[in-house]
Amino acid sequence: MNKLIVISGPSGVGKGTIVNELLKKGDYALSISCTTRPPRKGETEGVSYFFINRDKFLSMIEEGGFLEYDNHFENFYGTPKDFVEKQLQTKNVILEIEVNGALNAKKSYPQAILIMILPPSFDELKSRLVGRGTENSEKIANRMSRIDYELSLRDKYDYIVVNDNLDRAVGEIEEIIKNS
Ligand code: 5GP
Repeated sequence: MNKLIVISGPSGVGKGTIVNELLKKGDYALSISCTTRPPRKGETEGVSYFFINRDKFLSMIEEGGFLEYDNHFENFYGTPKDFVEKQLQTKNVILEIEVNGALNAKKSYPQAILIMILPPSFDELKSRLVGRGTENSEKIANRMSRIDYELSLRDKYDYIVVNDNLDRAVGEIEEIIKNS
């Protein structure tokens, strides 16, 4: 039986890199979310996201087409159920989504394995986010409170993995998946 793995963690913690390493192993597929936000430069339909309009998103909600969905930054984001179920027939499937979505995914799919990635040091992560220097202080404050919110939900996750070293963290996640 293939497994559904949900990976979350604060912005800047290195989730994307960890997920890419797992995908290189060949046993995993990545779930592609639907979103109503417009594509950013360099994003590709069906690779980064399925970009759909609000009406289509709302009708998919009505039809029960999402494993979970959430509304943030004034846009909808959701995990398409059919797409994930199809991928699960051949591989373990990874969802890289934020905490609210992760907890909802666990409700609709209780076998899901929830993994939260944390940094070795929050002070360092926070100063790195401030140091990006591209955002105004309001945005930075939002990011900080988001980190605190995500952290407040850590106990609801099945596993916490500290990204102190990429290979070690990926190895730990593989062990978790193997033994779950
Ligand atoms: P972005 O617009 O920067 O690509 O993503 C914004 C946020 O949406 C990120 O926190 C990302 O994890 C989250 N997200 C992406 N896909 C999904 C999804 O399918 N469901 C939920 N709940 N959140 C998602």
